[in-house]
Amino acid sequence: MYRTHNCGELRMSHVGEEVTLSGWVQISRDLGGLTFVDLRDRYGITQVVFNMDENAELCQQARKLGREFVVRIKGKVAERSNKNANRPTGNIEIEASNLEILNASKVPPFTIENETDGGDDLRMKYRYLDIRRKPVMENLMFRSQLAIATRKYLSEGGFIEVETPVLIKSTPEGARDFVVPSRMNQGQFYALPQSPQTFKQILMVGGMDKYFQIVKCFRDEDLRADRQPEFTQIDCEMAFVTRDEVLDTFEGLTKHVFKELLDVTLADFPKMSYDEALERYGSDKPDTRFGMEFVELTELAKGHDFPVFDNSEYIVAICAKGAADQYSNKDIKKLTEWMQRPQIGAKGLVNIKYQADGSVKSSVGKFYDDATLNSWKETLEAENGDLVLILCGEKEKTQKQMNELRLEMGKQLGLIDPMQFNPLWVVDFPLLEWDEESERFHAMHHPFTSPKKEDQERMLTGDHETMKALRADAYDLVINGVEIGGGSIRIHDRALQSRNFDLLGFSKEEAEDQFGFLMGAFEYGAPPHGGIAFGFDRLCAVLKGQNSIRDFIAFPKNNQGRDMMIDSPSYIDETQMSELALESTVSAES
Ligand code: ASP
Repeated sequence: MYRTHNCGELRMSHVGEEVTLSGWVQISRDLGGLTFVDLRDRYGITQVVFNMDENAELCQQARKLGREFVVRIKGKVAERSNKNANRPTGNIEIEASNLEILNASKVPPFTIENETDGGDDLRMKYRYLDIRRKPVMENLMFRSQLAIATRKYLSEGGFIEVETPVLIKSTPEGARDFVVPSRMNQGQFYALPQSPQTFKQILMVGGMDKYFQIVKCFRDEDLRADRQPEFTQIDCEMAFVTRDEVLDTFEGLTKHVFKELLDVTLADFPKMSYDEALERYGSDKPDTRFGMEFVELTELAKGHDFPVFDNSEYIVAICAKGAADQYSNKDIKKLTEWMQRPQIGAKGLVNIKYQADGSVKSSVGKFYDDATLNSWKETLEAENGDLVLILCGEKEKTQKQMNELRLEMGKQLGLIDPMQFNPLWVVDFPLLEWDEESERFHAMHHPFTSPKKEDQERMLTGDHETMKALRADAYDLVINGVEIGGGSIRIHDRALQSRNFDLLGFSKEEAEDQFGFLMGAFEYGAPPHGGIAFGFDRLCAVLKGQNSIRDFIAFPKNNQGRDMMIDSPSYIDETQMSELALESTVSAES
């Protein structure tokens, strides 16, 4: 028997018992007469003590144990004289009578502690060691609990989990596909799903009524902390539903998992239109944990012979409460430089300080007298002591820049509580987005999204300008400024779907070739349907108040899309290449 108990289990009630434990050596401390070994497994850490006087040979053996050796220890549970209140097992220790090394270990390349000295790539290369660390282990356990809570809620709600294929044909979800060459159909490729979108719609045509799947999706995009080339979605679809029924169901799921996993009770989620989100926060995923909302100054600020404002389409301000004193000219210069970095690209940053003593200081004081600046206070909802920051330019760009500034100021002023959760639904997205460069429309969500009922007729008959104004029955769930998921009511009518493909620049042949199966299915009694997908990795991270999804994924890839442990992607040999009828343009040698 390797163990009678695990390393997190023994308490005072076990004192006197003979036990066997197996685990990893966290650390071994030689204090002369006594040698202490901290033995660790998934469940915790237990202190083991070897006594030189009682068993010198055993004690000598214990002194030689290195970090991460795997050992089996027999001994008696005893009360500790100096207790460790920070450890659940801290009241006891094992007086060892036997020690067996089950496997030795090389010195690990980084410390297996809560805070480690290992860099990202090293931790990924030796992921098995990283997983031994408590924070990573706990994240993976949390993920498992979240999956179980999700499955329970959805299956109790009548959802059926159906697996959809991984080798498919590309779905234009907006990203690049990963492709897999077919040996039996030379020259042809499968694509890995960016999502099971078309399959779940087909399941609705098939009468499944309510579908879900916790499913891997693949997108060949540039990577960031919150993006991985393969990630997991909680993917759902429902037949005979209105938008609000979908939102209610998934608001229910979200509330359920917050309650189950964090014991947090969420209030009902507000709904905000896409337009309103942009006007108030300059973002379709606003962080509503703090205020500092946008105040448009276009009307007020123009017409005072300040050319920069006069030539701007849009002028917008945020008011940082009580911050006038906190920001010296040097601080404002720093903030301005931060805004001027190419990632943000602001031309400049105007400020007004409504000083505590009632005086006004402004970087545009030359163009605006105090009386004018004071007259803006009401619109800005500013009081003495507040700092007002202003950006101007082309509307969409300026909104994006101000969104960045607002979030940065929220951080700098400590307005963001990491353990507060502010969910909201963003609704009524535009259906189509005009892309000046390629001179074509893009689907804002995806090509299967339905326009709102009242816009359907206009979509079939309207002109170019009408198309720009169409609203979609699409929605996103946003929590703390993070897009947790999105979905839509779908088109279920062949004519409307075909019209959408026309608008998106597909020829009739292309549409038929890629989506003939779906439009064909619509002709055999497709029910009205809609659905949503949540980013499962992101949901884990948000629930745990963390930014990076990597530590919730057992084997993540690095920023170059590489798996550092198995060293993939890799070259394949010539035989494989020729079986697949592939010719290499680069090789391992070149
Ligand atoms: N397939 C969509 C996505 O991955 C979600 C949905 O519309 O249900 O974003």
